[in-house]
Amino acid sequence: MHHGVARPAEIKEACGVCGGWAEGSPIAYLTCFALYALQHRGQESAGIAVARGGETGSGIWLRRDSGLVAEVFPDLGELRNRPGSLAVGHVRYGYGREGKDPENAQPLLLRYRHGELAVAHNGHLLNGAALREELEEQGAIFQTGTDSELLAHLIARQGDAAVEEALAAVAPRLQGAFAFILTDGRKVVGLRDRHGFRPLSLAALGDSGFYLASETCAFDAIGAGFIREVVPGEMVILDDAGLRSRQVLERAGTSLCLFEYIYFARPDSNLQGRNVHLARRELGRRLAREHPADADIVTGVPDSSIAAASGFAEQAGLPYEMALVKNRYIGRTFIQPTRRMREEGVDLKLNAVQKIVEGKRVVIVDDSIVRGTTSLKLVRMMRRAGAREVHLRISSPPVIASCYYGIDTPDSRELLASSRTPAEIAGFLHADSIGYLSLAGTIKAVGLPEAQLCRACFTGRYPVACGGHHA
Ligand code: AMP
Repeated sequence: MHHGVARPAEIKEACGVCGGWAEGSPIAYLTCFALYALQHRGQESAGIAVARGGETGSGIWLRRDSGLVAEVFPDLGELRNRPGSLAVGHVRYGYGREGKDPENAQPLLLRYRHGELAVAHNGHLLNGAALREELEEQGAIFQTGTDSELLAHLIARQGDAAVEEALAAVAPRLQGAFAFILTDGRKVVGLRDRHGFRPLSLAALGDSGFYLASETCAFDAIGAGFIREVVPGEMVILDDAGLRSRQVLERAGTSLCLFEYIYFARPDSNLQGRNVHLARRELGRRLAREHPADADIVTGVPDSSIAAASGFAEQAGLPYEMALVKNRYIGRTFIQPTRRMREEGVDLKLNAVQKIVEGKRVVIVDDSIVRGTTSLKLVRMMRRAGAREVHLRISSPPVIASCYYGIDTPDSRELLASSRTPAEIAGFLHADSIGYLSLAGTIKAVGLPEAQLCRACFTGRYPVACGGHHA
């Protein structure tokens, strides 16, 4: 069947994963800290699996539920006292109806003939639907829509009782973007896809332990020392013998998602040796050179665009002002005001500071435009607060193609830039001008060779073509 460029029906994820082994450390407690540090990567659900490790395999303890880390783990004291040498954690960014379903919270715990498996992942298997169909035809029953459950089924079907061998055997069947962390209660195993689309790093923890996490900011939160990134296609095994590594998939270079630098990752994280905040400031500087604006002040959209806005202001020689204030206390369950209310200026999340923008020509720097909902709101808000002119500057190229690898970019028809020129977009958003950073400028700002970054959402050319989806 030909699917065109429509988004696949199964759910996709851009989550945060972590997990490690450390004898004598309160590993469950530390994993909760790591999840707090990764909370920006997903707010739908959180979970931690803990086990004592060793050959006895005394059973895996698990808690997972919908909600923020603080909601799912309100009692840190309980985690602190939980015995264990190993843990796996997950925060979930789910979208669509199924994405919000609590049964899809991870890690998933499955019991099979060789024992237990707790599995968490970040990413999206391009051939997930095909693999699922194949297993269902053979009688498999799936409880969730997650790729983690799919992986557990594939592992369980391998004859080998050793999880490491079973994973190595099924790994070549997995296509797409993924960082898996799983445990059988005896060891923790991490696996990164052969393109390295999703980030995964390795650190030393305590005297002889090791820890894996999507972002290095999680290591800072638990006092772990960064060692290196997990190599694309590499499997790492953490247990009482220390750290082992196996290249189980042929490495295809690194194609880390460019959006990690633009928007996803936390500014205090480093990816491929580049600090995210510094990369964003450079995006802003280049944006100011490519698209200068005749204006009085520059402001960023909190929190993700502040670094780029400060770089823009610095390069342009304009004052950076905090003209937009974000309310940080609005929870997940907040119900958006209706469209009519929004048009009348009802907004709890963001507010423009009238005394700063009144009568001014304002540059708003935002990191990206996807559907355009945010930009439309920002321009309207600025004008209502009395701005004389509003110039939008975007510190990334126009997003023209949806992502197959797990990032929440909708069907390309819903992407504002997929069928409009920048001038048409400025008109649509009622902005006095708009300027997007070029792809070449974006890559230069990040400072890595172009081939090391996945740029598909800006080019429509995908590093891996799959099934009915054409590249
Ligand atoms: P939109 O309002 O649809 O144009 O989305 C763009 C805004 O959402 C920007 O302000 C970004 O900071 C943020 N953003 C960009 N990409 C994503 C994403 N994949 N998921 C959630 N928010 C995003």
